[in-house]
Amino acid sequence: MLQQTTVAAVIPHYEKWLRLFPDVFALARSPLPKVLKAWEGLGYYDRARRLHQAGRILCRDLDGKLPDTSEELRRLPGFGPYITAAVLSLGYGRPLAVLDANVRRVLMRLDRIRAASAAGVDKALKRRLDDLLDRNRPAAFNQAMMELGALVCRPRNPRCPVCPIQAFCRAFESGEQEIIPPPKRRPCERIETAVAVIESHGRYLIQKRPPSGLLAGLWEFPGGKREKGESLKAALRRELKEELGAEVETARLALKLRHAYTRFLVDLYAYETVLKDIPPLDGRRHKWVARRSLKMYPFPSGSARIIRFLEEREKGRRHGRSV
Ligand code: SF4
Repeated sequence: MLQQTTVAAVIPHYEKWLRLFPDVFALARSPLPKVLKAWEGLGYYDRARRLHQAGRILCRDLDGKLPDTSEELRRLPGFGPYITAAVLSLGYGRPLAVLDANVRRVLMRLDRIRAASAAGVDKALKRRLDDLLDRNRPAAFNQAMMELGALVCRPRNPRCPVCPIQAFCRAFESGEQEIIPPPKRRPCERIETAVAVIESHGRYLIQKRPPSGLLAGLWEFPGGKREKGESLKAALRRELKEELGAEVETARLALKLRHAYTRFLVDLYAYETVLKDIPPLDGRRHKWVARRSLKMYPFPSGSARIIRFLEEREKGRRHGRSV
């Protein structure tokens, strides 16, 4: 859960997760859609899928217990070198150093390593970290290093005046703490999507995304990406023709929202749409769902915000307000 985000942002998700799945057996027994639903808002849904698969393997083959060797752990879905070292050192007290993005930044600043890419120097950093590791208290050491990176040696505005290792820090000595490591420049693609909110007799049409690829297996409102040179409404008409085999009668913009993913910035336009005819649909891929029941399905963040909008609007109408 903590990948690409902060502890403060994760805490409510973590608490909810533990209420739903108090142990690994509860997780393993749960169907995947329930697990994906519980993960909503955390992004990177493959992690939830792998956690679920690992839970099922643990319950089926290992009495629900996490193994304590690197070989066995690495066979579980989602267990790469980082998670494996973290489980073995934090859970079992094994003398293994954990190199995550926070620790990498601390070490690069400590030794004033000005490499162009932080990941490119991992081997050298791992050796340095192994030398520093307190073998008698590996869990405390690893957590201290991660916390130092997260709270003090922050990516921007590091808190050098209160840093406990300032006296040894070569980047601080040379005044380069802000430029080590160099900031990553991720290509950020801008995408515009037009989606249809289609209501019939108080129920809304939703569709399931394919089982692999981006946001696999989640539900969404029908629609898709605007092609070059196409207007948003034309994109909506084309997508609904392709996805549902349906013609649009009217489409009225109800909501515009922007959502940032790691590599994309998505402008999402939700149109209240009336179709000329509703063609027969594949029940495994499409569903008509009452507004109140939409909450039971896992949606990506953009669609979840449309659902909140529908909920607010319904409340507003009940109280005689227009939203
Ligand atoms: Fe990071 Fe500053 Fe501490 Fe150096 S002195 S480790 S740059 S917080």
